[in-house]
Amino acid sequence: MLLLMVIVMRETINSNKEADDNKTAIGNKVTGSNKTTVSNKAEFTSPTNSKSPEIQDIFKLYSEQYRQKNYGKLPPHVLRVMDAIEDCRTSVLGGHVRACGDCGTKEIAYNSCRNRHCPKCQTLTKERWINKQKENLLDVGYFHVVFTIPDTLNPVAYQNQKIVYNILFKAVAETLTELTTDPKHLVRR
Ligand SMILES: [Zn+2]
Repeated sequence: MLLLMVIVMRETINSNKEADDNKTAIGNKVTGSNKTTVSNKAEFTSPTNSKSPEIQDIFKLYSEQYRQKNYGKLPPHVLRVMDAIEDCRTSVLGGHVRACGDCGTKEIAYNSCRNRHCPKCQTLTKERWINKQKENLLDVGYFHVVFTIPDTLNPVAYQNQKIVYNILFKAVAETLTELTTDPKHLVRR
């Protein structure tokens, strides 16, 4: 017998507009390999001029100290990730100049590190994924409904997936139809 478990949650997808990763680099003036300097400590501000500091800002301040304290203990892949996060969208990774054809305004856009552990790069990937998923959603209120079957049926379901899933989907459709047309279960239709 099927077990109707929960009608859980309203899905909300952040409607943040996808940011241009190069544009967010403007204003980051870290240069060269001298990543942790006294002058860096004097300006604990985000490279993107947002209010809260980013992981990169913290790395720039403390990674050299951390590296020295753990000299010989940090594996190469960890050091590579630290390098990538510190250098992301700075002049260390190079960049290009964009110029407006009309007014001549120029912007320097530094390259991204594209390391999957980098919050800047990962955020962009996440936003792209969310925007892609949004293309598949209807423009209506959206609910995530979970149906489960008892654990004891797992072996049977695994061996007879087509039959069990057909039964499950039929039962789910009938249950949802019954619940959504019954005033006892819904405040409104
Ligand atoms: Zn990055």
